Amino acid sequence: MTKIKMTTPLVEIDGDEMTRVIWQMIKDELLNPFVELNTEYYDLGLKVRDETKDQITHDAGHAIRKYGVGVKCATITPNTARMDEYNLTSMWKSPNGTIRSILDGTVFRAPIVIDSIKPAVVNWKKPITVARHAYGDVYKGTEYRVPETGKAELVFTGDNGASFRETIYDFECPGILQGMFNKDTSIRSFAHACFQYALNTNQDLWFSAKDTISKVYDETFKQIFEEVFESDYKAVFEEKGLVYFYTLIDDAIARVIRSEGGYIWACKNYDGDVMSDMISTAFGSLAMMTSVLCSPDGMFEYEAAHGTVTRHYYRYLEGEETSTNPMATIFAWSGALRKRGEMDGLDDLCAFADKLEAACFDTLNAGIMTKDLVALAEGPVTSVTTKEFIEEVRKRLEEKMQ
Ligand code: NAP
Ligand code: MG
Repeated sequence: MTKIKMTTPLVEIDGDEMTRVIWQMIKDELLNPFVELNTEYYDLGLKVRDETKDQITHDAGHAIRKYGVGVKCATITPNTARMDEYNLTSMWKSPNGTIRSILDGTVFRAPIVIDSIKPAVVNWKKPITVARHAYGDVYKGTEYRVPETGKAELVFTGDNGASFRETIYDFECPGILQGMFNKDTSIRSFAHACFQYALNTNQDLWFSAKDTISKVYDETFKQIFEEVFESDYKAVFEEKGLVYFYTLIDDAIARVIRSEGGYIWACKNYDGDVMSDMISTAFGSLAMMTSVLCSPDGMFEYEAAHGTVTRHYYRYLEGEETSTNPMATIFAWSGALRKRGEMDGLDDLCAFADKLEAACFDTLNAGIMTKDLVALAEGPVTSVTTKEFIEEVRKRLEEKMQ
């Protein structure tokens, strides 16, 4: 069989622990036999991040800027326990945060849906994609524990003379304070990323916030989305028969629960954090959640939504064949290869990505699953290890590639 050729490198970002092991298995069994992989490789394993003083993470982010598409393995975000475990020279920042700020991206998360695993919400038939604005708000807030009685004020001093001062509260007892912000540029990028992703995936876009209560802050989000839609996307949405609308988050939640899925739900940072966990849990498993970071200027980074699956890795180190679900990591690769194929006009690469995903679905539909899914699935199922699962996918993929 002649292998499929690639013309532009794909940025390959390796990671840590169990997902690093799975990464190699996927390449050996499902990619290298069929595709002449042309990747620019960045090892973001914690050891290399430490040795390079995290320069490797920045280089990887800029490589995505250069080539347009990357695929990323899960990585450890160090905490104090990891400092000791890996003997680190510094508590390096989350690689996802670093890459996100280089790409100025929005994170889109969508569940992989199969027939035998019924969502907790019975009428959900199609995936629901949550688009999370990953900048500002409470994540970059300033907080203060008010120790005594006193006046709290909101003060702004502009560089060109604008000024604002208003009492937040006259404290008659101890309490708490929080200040937070966002920027028009970031909100506008978020809006563009959402509209473009909707066009790319041919889905409607919903955006929700709480403008009835937050009459300036959330209202600004609402207005910027409206402006961006009117000026850049309205005509092409109409042409494609797609819908954009804004609604209050309370109403959005009621609609989401009653819907059959199949749309993108754009959320502010905190809402997106919480709602994406709710959606993934209700659809079944974190191990079946895909994630893609899209920049407003059309760069893409594909990854799994889950972490490095540390508990399984420690068992793997003791010699156990684990039953870790590789689906989200396989789909990160298929998503990235398809996007590379689309950008470079390589139909056979796109077709390969489709076949790889179809082989995964065929395997799951045959009842062959890793342990995490066995507990959720209806009907007869066979529990397999990661290695066995990948071998079953390989068999089916080979048939499709013939
Ligand atoms: P995790 O790696 O997502 O795993 C949490 C638990 O969820 C696992 O112990 C396992 O449950 C289950 N799970 C997750 N993915 C699975 C899969 N593919 N197959 C089967 N079960 C799966 O989260 P964590 O343990 O909180 O974090 C571990 C490390 O990952 C941390 O160092 C964190 O910094 C990092 N992390 C990285 C990313 C990223 O790079 N995108 C995201 C999140 C966390 P059972 O043990 O019950 O089987
Ligand atoms: Mg969360």
